[in-house]
Amino acid sequence: MPLVTARQLLDEAAKGGYGVGAFNVNNMEQIQAIMAAAVETKSPVIVQASRGARAYAEDRYLYHLMLAAAELHPEIPMSLHQDHGNSFDTCKSAIALGFTSVMMDGSLREDGKTPSTFEENVEVTRRVVDYAHERGVSVEGEIGVLGGVEDGHGAGGSGLEHVTDPDQAVEFAERTGVDSLAIAIGTSHGAYKFTKKPDGSVLKMDILIAIHKRLPHTHLVMHGSSSVPKDLQDIVNQYGGKLKPTWGVPIEEIQLGIRNGVRKVNVDTDSRLAITGAIRKVFAETPEKFDPRDYLKPARDAMKKVVQARMIQFGQAGHAGDYAPIPLTEMAKGYASGRLDTRPSVAAR
Ligand SMILES: [Zn+2]
Repeated sequence: MPLVTARQLLDEAAKGGYGVGAFNVNNMEQIQAIMAAAVETKSPVIVQASRGARAYAEDRYLYHLMLAAAELHPEIPMSLHQDHGNSFDTCKSAIALGFTSVMMDGSLREDGKTPSTFEENVEVTRRVVDYAHERGVSVEGEIGVLGGVEDGHGAGGSGLEHVTDPDQAVEFAERTGVDSLAIAIGTSHGAYKFTKKPDGSVLKMDILIAIHKRLPHTHLVMHGSSSVPKDLQDIVNQYGGKLKPTWGVPIEEIQLGIRNGVRKVNVDTDSRLAITGAIRKVFAETPEKFDPRDYLKPARDAMKKVVQARMIQFGQAGHAGDYAPIPLTEMAKGYASGRLDTRPSVAAR
């Protein structure tokens, strides 16, 4: 199957009432782990690369690994998504490379650290939407500021410092026409999200629910949504790691989000923990080994296992065969005609 837009995957997920995991990649093993999990569970999937990943893997390697995945698994609808684009130029270069979906994170300035003003965010996001939609590529925006830092991107601090204001979310959706919207409801990037098990008082699910009611046509995105399971932390620490006690977003909270309009769920930390735990185990138990395949293969298997579990928990499992891919040229026509317009004043009609 050719790469399709995240918009198509999320529209289908909305019809089916499930969420789609967006898993970060940096190298071949991670792409293979995600595809193996998608094939086994028959899941549509979003594969995403941050600016850090594009620099690490180099654009051409990354893109051709994705093409290989699409070629090997024509039965899997997949989207290649730019995670946290920091500027118009980053999004433009992703589209030139062949990404089918981009995130313009205008909640921060181009340095990827300083919170921007609302007007700055609207302006840069609107510009990316105009450019991307003309080319049939879908766009995710962000309103409110997430906590923590990932791949050098983020404002730091707790996820509760800049929680999304529902009125602003509605105005933002109206003025930008984004396909999907990342909102800040208390989640953070990285492994250290919460210092105790989060419950309803920590995650602002009421805000999420309020936004979904007012923006039923804009798909909501949960960032920083690794669950950071204790068993994965334990494996890392058992074999010499030094992770401090930490809690991620409980699966039940993500599932509550999915019942209330969350269609894209970003997972990165869980994959990192799975990979690192598996590698540490090989190093600790068989220190005589030195063939990278001896530890990269178990690492890949460990990531596949956690991705597979998320695909089942988010509900995307079993949905790979539900629909035919829509080419970008058709998506561009849909945007031009207004058929794919998500702005509340238009979509409500
Ligand atoms: Zn994120």
